[in-house]
Amino acid sequence: MSQEFFHEGELVAVLTAQPLDRFLDYKATEGGCHLGAFVEVPLGPRKVLGVVWGPGKGDFDYNKVRSVIRVLDVAPMRDEMRTFLTRAADYTLTPLHAMLRLATRAPGLGDAPSMRKVYRLGDQEPDRITAARTKVLEVLSDYGGLSFTLKELADMAGVGSSVVKGLVKLGAVAEVDAPRDMPYPMLDPDYGGKELSVGQAAGAEALRADLRTDKYGTTLLKGVTGSGKTEVYLEAVAECLRMGRQALVLLPEIALSGEFINRVEARFGMKPAEWHSGVTMTERRRCWRMVGQGDAQLIVGARSALFLPFQNLGLVVVDEEHDTSYKQEDGVLYNARDMTVLRAAINGAQVVLASATPSLESWANVEQGKYKRLELKSRYGPAIMPKMSAIDMRVEDLPGGKWVSPTLRNAIAQRIEKGEQSLVFLNRRGYAPITLCRACGHQIACDHCDARMVEHRFLKRLMCHQCGETKPMPNVCPHCEAEDKLSAVGPGVERMGEEITELFPDARVAVLSSDLYGSARAMKAHIEEIAKGGTDIIIGTQLVAKGHNFPYLTLVGVIDADLGLQGSDLRAAERTFQLMRQVAGRAGRAETPGEAMLQTYQPEHGVIRAILAGDEEAFWAAEAGERRAAGVPPYGRMAGIILSGPSAEEVFELGNALARQDLPLRKIGAQVFGPAPAPIARVRGRHRVRLLVKAEKSAPLQQALAEWAGQFRLRGDLRMAIDIDPQSF
Ligand code: ADP
Ligand code: ZN
Repeated sequence: MSQEFFHEGELVAVLTAQPLDRFLDYKATEGGCHLGAFVEVPLGPRKVLGVVWGPGKGDFDYNKVRSVIRVLDVAPMRDEMRTFLTRAADYTLTPLHAMLRLATRAPGLGDAPSMRKVYRLGDQEPDRITAARTKVLEVLSDYGGLSFTLKELADMAGVGSSVVKGLVKLGAVAEVDAPRDMPYPMLDPDYGGKELSVGQAAGAEALRADLRTDKYGTTLLKGVTGSGKTEVYLEAVAECLRMGRQALVLLPEIALSGEFINRVEARFGMKPAEWHSGVTMTERRRCWRMVGQGDAQLIVGARSALFLPFQNLGLVVVDEEHDTSYKQEDGVLYNARDMTVLRAAINGAQVVLASATPSLESWANVEQGKYKRLELKSRYGPAIMPKMSAIDMRVEDLPGGKWVSPTLRNAIAQRIEKGEQSLVFLNRRGYAPITLCRACGHQIACDHCDARMVEHRFLKRLMCHQCGETKPMPNVCPHCEAEDKLSAVGPGVERMGEEITELFPDARVAVLSSDLYGSARAMKAHIEEIAKGGTDIIIGTQLVAKGHNFPYLTLVGVIDADLGLQGSDLRAAERTFQLMRQVAGRAGRAETPGEAMLQTYQPEHGVIRAILAGDEEAFWAAEAGERRAAGVPPYGRMAGIILSGPSAEEVFELGNALARQDLPLRKIGAQVFGPAPAPIARVRGRHRVRLLVKAEKSAPLQQALAEWAGQFRLRGDLRMAIDIDPQSF
């Protein structure tokens, strides 16, 4: 048994989030501290946050060891969390302090909470009652003794805040000070459950039974978009809440979480806690602390929510588990889906991976019996899957510089006549991907990255999609200085907007692309507006492929279905298949059947044929065969080593040196490929090369990689990042 409490004067080993590769000894002070306590400790001239990780080593003169400054007033980090961070660090070959940083991403953790005004039922009867006042009082009595902020209360009652203020004056509503870190309102697992279909009910019961085992397990919940997966996993969430354990739902596209939050509220009577980049600092802090003390039952969040200090985690749902945004590509390189499974295994929690188009990894885990599989075979209710067809672009009659084929145009015209919506899908932001000088052939590129600048006409600027740098659109070619020769080449969604407006001048057209909005809120509002049916033709990027329901949408036209098939990435087929199925699934949700049309130059391509046939099993089987033959994930293991620095020569030199000294890898039978320019060869002025390492599934890859990379001291401005399970290979 490890020591659980340290008395005054005893030495403790503290992990800080500072870049040090060891624990630091401190003396416990008056009152002592628990194992896992969050503490403030002196480090040089600074005070830093740390966690008591165990007994101190006592390597130094006891009298010189400094003391803990204070123990923070937050729940100590639990054993499971320390185990999780340690194992996640080992798996991703990330220093433990970087993991701790991920786990403490809330501002002012140890500070006393600030106060704010909240409102609850007062003890006076108002002498004059109005309809609006009645609503407010009803809300308050419905929710018993609960208090709300002014905005919450006014929103819930559907009245202006002056009504509440008026009631305060009369004493019918009490205004009191409360700490900002209030517990979240209790959710009611039996509040708004829907009547489930037979298939849904069976799925929900299977998940509930798994939860009741109180053990770890993972289930892949597969079903086409609209089959009712969300309803099924919300039943698992309900069961988790009944058991008094905490639940977490991870979503890939947090900008779209508004609709989801409303669904949760409809199901459980109250909104859940949210954790993502759009949440204010005060609310983040509240969420972190309440999760830690068990006063938040359900959290809906982005991948980093997995690092919240759950007290009693019982269930994690990873919605759209195949989504690439679960992989963090900056800083600590981790895949939230895989880390979820790790965390759940440590916590004895259940995992539900939901998707219409599961990743090959999850598919393989089902095959090997590691995950269970649940499938919803058809769409909920009368809606049926859209009819899929290809438009062979080799035979369509289209002038240069235009992209909407006559076939697609006719289909859209028919929908407009019937008052239905169409979606024109192109996975490319901006106006045109290339800005070319017709005089010298120069293509405008980013000064810092190995990428073209993309014209954004809406912003009236050129933008680099790698580093975000923008510059005004020049009048003359930056290369040959010819005037008026720069022209847009290729389509982006903004340009599609232009073409569609020309074709359908009377139609109401909306372009949906993440860069067209000043804020996530503006984007959300626009999406909701469109969903209500105020638009005839939606033109959108990947953003619309994810999660949102457009009940009036019956036609999806994909402008360039071949886009994702270019390049040599072994995952290209999987990605294209997933994206096309996902986009097509947007059509025909309600009682009206949908149709999806794919414009392609290669209708006989295996992937395109599989998409059209909708034969997922066959596609995955074929894809699995190829991956197995190539010995790549999920049938083999891969890691990428990315080296970067200001000089391309130096970076390559280091890459070559690494490739030569590969003994630690050869010992485990692994192969090294490269160095080659990384998928993004230059970012923000830094040159990047990548080495890929391929090993057998069972090989002790991390250990060998650590030994291999450890042979080199990085000089000057060179950096090395290890990427276990890279997204592209
Ligand atoms: P998925 O998550 O598989 O895309 P959803 O759970 O979002 O599917 O369901 C699609 C639509 O059908 C939603 O509007 C949802 O509210 C509705 N729906 C699903 N199951 C039921 C049910 N049992 N009763 C009523 N409506 C349902
Ligand atoms: Zn750039």
